[in-house]
Amino acid sequence: QADTGGAPVKKRLGVMGGTFDPIHHGHLVAASEVASLFALDEVVFVPTGQPWQKSEQRVSPAEDRYLMTVIATASNPQFSVSRIDIDRKGPTYTVDTLRDLRAEHPDADLFFITGADALEQILSWRNAEEMFGLAHFIGVTRPGHTLTNPGLPEGGVSLVEVPALAISSSDCRSRVARGEPVWYLVPDGVVRYIDKRALYHRKGGQAATG
Ligand code: ATP
Ligand code: MG
Repeated sequence: QADTGGAPVKKRLGVMGGTFDPIHHGHLVAASEVASLFALDEVVFVPTGQPWQKSEQRVSPAEDRYLMTVIATASNPQFSVSRIDIDRKGPTYTVDTLRDLRAEHPDADLFFITGADALEQILSWRNAEEMFGLAHFIGVTRPGHTLTNPGLPEGGVSLVEVPALAISSSDCRSRVARGEPVWYLVPDGVVRYIDKRALYHRKGGQAATG
């Protein structure tokens, strides 16, 4: 840490939560852009455990989603992946993610990165008030959604425009199920991994819908 003649500079840690089923270039561009705009030291990607918003849907095994996230982020020295949500029992609540990261990094400032669609719902998340005390929230633009502050405390949220990539994991899954390519929508290693594990094929038993 830089010597500022007294107060140490706090580490600036971005947090990108997601199902990452699969991780795609929309996630990666959002994280990269926010890291640059907010001078973050690191962005930690946190794949969810069983996502509570998606409990009726089938979600690929956590280990596959974790490994795809590792593959996609491995080449960027600023990016890392955390197992905290997939190793915690029970459904994932973002407040738990932030509490655990805060405990792991007591001296860091946390910046939670979220797309416009997720931001719209954030006030309905468990312990919303506590979450806003644990991290600064950064809402990013996403094609097909309007980016507005849904009523978070003033100063608790920043809204930023990132390069528009009309990519979603749902669409990637449907494409694979239809036998259409996902090259260049997801990193090359993720294309290979989906193929190797036969993820998202309708007859593969691992298909996720939605
Ligand atoms: P699904 O279609 O299964 O919901 P998804 O593409 O929305 O998948 P998630 O894992 O649900 O991906 O999203 C994780 C986070 O990344 C959310 O905050 C979401 O808003 C954001 N995000 C996803 N895709 C984009 C994108 N193309 N541009 C900007 N943000 C995105
Ligand atoms: Mg989503």
